Amino acid sequence: MNVIVCIKQVMAGDQMRFDPRTHRLMRSLKSSRMNSFDLYPLAMAVHLKKEYSGTITVLTMGPEISKEVLWEALAIGADRTVLLSDARFSASDTLSTSYVLGMGIRKIGKYDLILSGMRTTDSGTAQVGPQLAEELGIPHLTGVEKVEREQNRFLVERMIDGFREKAAITPPALLTISPAIGLHTPSLVDIEDAFTRTPIERWNLEDLKADPTRVGHEGSGTWVEELIPITKQKSCDFIEGEPRQQAKALLEKLTEKNLLS
Ligand SMILES: Cc1cc2nc3c(=O)[nH]c(=O)nc-3n(C[C@H](O)[C@H](O)[C@H](O)COP(=O)(O)OP(=O)(O)OC[C@H]3O[C@@H](n4cnc5c(N)ncnc54)[C@H](O)[C@@H]3O)c2cc1C
Repeated sequence: MNVIVCIKQVMAGDQMRFDPRTHRLMRSLKSSRMNSFDLYPLAMAVHLKKEYSGTITVLTMGPEISKEVLWEALAIGADRTVLLSDARFSASDTLSTSYVLGMGIRKIGKYDLILSGMRTTDSGTAQVGPQLAEELGIPHLTGVEKVEREQNRFLVERMIDGFREKAAITPPALLTISPAIGLHTPSLVDIEDAFTRTPIERWNLEDLKADPTRVGHEGSGTWVEELIPITKQKSCDFIEGEPRQQAKALLEKLTEKNLLS
């Protein structure tokens, strides 16, 4: 079974800095890491390879520093890694990102499943998985917790509206993977082995034969107009007195703030 996993490098939550003029995220190696939601599709890919054999190809679109997350993916179990990187891809919105990823996947060629995380910890739109499936014209299911191959289809399970849903999907297909499946922790040998494998491949706009009018800021149908910092106010009141007085005062405060229904 050939599986492609999409992963993204994100900034640590407390390190996010935006260019005040362009509203674009300013990236630096020191504060970058793999999107934690992408560890789950990687774990699922490792599990599927163990069950059904095949290959795991990991793909990311991002600046040169995104190579770091591809090394991590190699340690977790990827056989092949591809970085889609070109200055013209920067400032892409989710639709342009999905287009570039789609062009990368077309160049990779034959696959049974594409796996992605449910969302990222920086932009967090949860749009890229479904948009990528649309771009490639393949079926998709989100929030998947279990995958089994049954003849020429996959049986998947996911939680939806308090029910465990069992669904079937025909390959090639895209699944976004739920954190409920758990992680795959690489051994020290896997980590050492990662650095002896095939080098990371790097493809630019020309390699992908991508349409320059569909990428980057110019190719994006949405853009950020303004970023308004949200200031959170916290305060702590200590209620003095005997327990009965404290309870009465607390009740009054909660009622005053309309916090009791
Ligand atoms: C209106 C708008 C304007 C934007 N403008 C800019 C901008 O100017 N500059 C800028 O840097 N960003 C910009 N972004 C953010 C950029 O579009 C997103 O970082 C990117 O498209 C991924 O979206 P997301 O983080 O919401 O991913 P989600 O949809 O939340 O991610 C779901 C899954 O998709 C996969 N995935 C997502 N991104 C990638 C990727 N790059 N490579 C491989 N797999 C991936 C991962 O598996 C991930 O778990 C903008 C976003 C919006 C909505």
